[in-house]
Amino acid sequence: MDITEYADTVWRGEVPDSIVQAGPAGQGFAEVADGVGFRNGFGNTIALRQDGEVTLFDTGSPFGKDRLHADLRAWTAEPVTAAIYSHGHIDHVSGVGPFDAEADEQGWPRPAVIGHEAIAARFERYALTGGYNAVINRRQFQLPDLTWPTEFRHPDVTYREEMSLDHIELFHAKGETDDASVGWIPSRRILLPGDLFIWVTPNCGNPQKAQRYPREWAVALRRMAALRPEIMLPSHGAPIFGADRVEQALTETAEWLEFMVERTLGMLNEGARLDDIVRAVRPPAHLAERPYLRPHYDEPEFVVRNIWRLYGGWYDGNPARLKPAPDAELAAAVAELAGGAGLLGDAALRALASGRERLAGHLAEMAVQAAPDDTALHGIRAEVFAARARSEASLMARGVFTSAAEESRRITEGGRAGDDAPGTVSIAGTSSTDDTTGPGQTPAGGDAPDRPGPASFS
Ligand SMILES: [Zn+2]
Repeated sequence: MDITEYADTVWRGEVPDSIVQAGPAGQGFAEVADGVGFRNGFGNTIALRQDGEVTLFDTGSPFGKDRLHADLRAWTAEPVTAAIYSHGHIDHVSGVGPFDAEADEQGWPRPAVIGHEAIAARFERYALTGGYNAVINRRQFQLPDLTWPTEFRHPDVTYREEMSLDHIELFHAKGETDDASVGWIPSRRILLPGDLFIWVTPNCGNPQKAQRYPREWAVALRRMAALRPEIMLPSHGAPIFGADRVEQALTETAEWLEFMVERTLGMLNEGARLDDIVRAVRPPAHLAERPYLRPHYDEPEFVVRNIWRLYGGWYDGNPARLKPAPDAELAAAVAELAGGAGLLGDAALRALASGRERLAGHLAEMAVQAAPDDTALHGIRAEVFAARARSEASLMARGVFTSAAEESRRITEGGRAGDDAPGTVSIAGTSSTDDTTGPGQTPAGGDAPDRPGPASFS
């Protein structure tokens, strides 16, 4: 199937291809327009061949850097003179190494790496929080051995608002990150939105990661739509061909974000508590069935919390939580009132059986907080959170709940609480592997995994 037919099936919702369930990796670069190659990967890479030189837009994850290089060389022998980072997430900035090495071997200048000026601060933050990023990405993607890179190929050239290269124009956008660059190839009317379009609801609520910017994200999407692109090549998921489709995808995603921001800020300004806002704000119903607005990665509830964090403080309006008692003290008090932690565990199972999964989560967590060495209660906690993981649509919720279930399951099997020792497999390693065999990915020509694997570390 050619790339336009394939993109059509994704547009119609027949085939998932998004940041969560990536499409046909391992097929190299497909020429989507004269001199423009699109490679479906983790994340995608776009290559522009012009005047005997190649410019890359995004460079993929550490898993796939050698394969990316090989794929590009199967498409063209021309030197890579520039590599643009759509933003500083590691699934976009980790593939320059083999091109640097090739340039050194061939006696070419190394590619000029280009990105927004805020990328440097991100890389500094990653070095400061490498341990945390390892922990949360293990949890989010169920990769128990993941370690986090602390050294990065920094941009050689940065900019603040806009930048014009020979054949690509860049403008800065805030959305998933504060360091995004949108690419525009005017001669082909091709838009490169980076991760501002990922074929699922925007990743701007992520519970474990740094601040995102939903309102600015919508502004950037409207600006992109005003260019009237004929083709959109996102950094995750399939291309979109056709000006009307591109406009629809961009403007409806903007509308989704604007709606969430408006409703959340409306209640925030009325003095509502965070808990009330989280219960009340729902995304626009008429967009729920769009193939590119399904909450399979992030989800609306998390976006509300992120908007609260962006515009408000961390205090949620419940005075008991301003300076709360320790979790374990509260749990012990409730267990005593109930007649013992075991009764809290029983109540958790009853809540689960009656479909009150959120309540079951509280009760199970309290039970083990009150009796941390009780393996039977950890068995209940494992059961409750495994059930919660099964009923969630978003990868992020499944990741946290699965991780909690695994934590208790290890204790029931004789481990110890908090046993989450660092592993040995490094995504920062210099000996990269073929990205068709990266964790959670669909092997080329193979079956899709049962559950979505990590298409990104966004
Ligand atoms: Zn990404």
